Amino acid sequence: MSAAHEARLIADGVHWLGGCLVANAPGQEVHYHVSAYLVVGARASILVDTGDPAHLPVVMEQLDTALGGRPLDYIFPTHPEIPHAGNLPGLLERYPSALVVGDVRDYLLHFPEYEDRFISKAAGECLDLGGREFRFLTAFIRDLENTLWGYDSGAGMLFVSDGFSYIHDVPAPEEDDEPVHLPGQCRMLSGEMPVPPTVEQAAYGTGRALYWTKFVDVVPAFEQVRETLEALPVRFVGPAHGNVIDDVEGMLMTSLAAHRQVYEGRVL
Ligand SMILES: [Zn+2]
Ligand SMILES: [Zn+2]
Repeated sequence: MSAAHEARLIADGVHWLGGCLVANAPGQEVHYHVSAYLVVGARASILVDTGDPAHLPVVMEQLDTALGGRPLDYIFPTHPEIPHAGNLPGLLERYPSALVVGDVRDYLLHFPEYEDRFISKAAGECLDLGGREFRFLTAFIRDLENTLWGYDSGAGMLFVSDGFSYIHDVPAPEEDDEPVHLPGQCRMLSGEMPVPPTVEQAAYGTGRALYWTKFVDVVPAFEQVRETLEALPVRFVGPAHGNVIDDVEGMLMTSLAAHRQVYEGRVL
């Protein structure tokens, strides 16, 4: 397994899974993460997002290792897009007792054969994993109406789907809008990267991946994010496509400044 495809233990019971896809930037190979996170409690386990279908064998191998013979109990795709939910058929077949949880209102349109395994969970509802709790949260920054975020009380980790992704000091891909990193920076925490991202780099991913943020003032959304951070102790933020953030306060300010720039039209 290449370095890009090695799982990483973020904290006790939280595994960073998935892999990187390769994008083409001028003169240089760059990566972006398509991540999934496994949270394992004393009683139950939950997989947050499924990883990209290109990585299905990788994700299954990582899951087998991390679960150590235990079943996978819950799968929580943050929203029904390919990099987040695309491995559902393979995972539901591989783990026959696993239930799909979240805002699953339209999942049976994609997978009618699994209708009895979709369990609706709204923001505010919790799952007891045994010694830790997984809470479903409103996605304050989202691209689909039925996106949800999540929170693991055991590690104090917030899972933010397509929110809080950013690029680093690498050339931007010509026709891509993914938050890229260099080969060798896979699965690094934000605090381990050579330099923190600038506001401009955070704005690059924000303005293109979440196009609506050009038209909507996101300051109220960030106030809600801040209220969530005050109510729940957050040590780590896990985006689906960026590096895991361990400098939570610093990144929140950078990301808010980036969204302000996009909204004010200084970055297109
Ligand atoms: Zn995504
Ligand atoms: Zn990578």
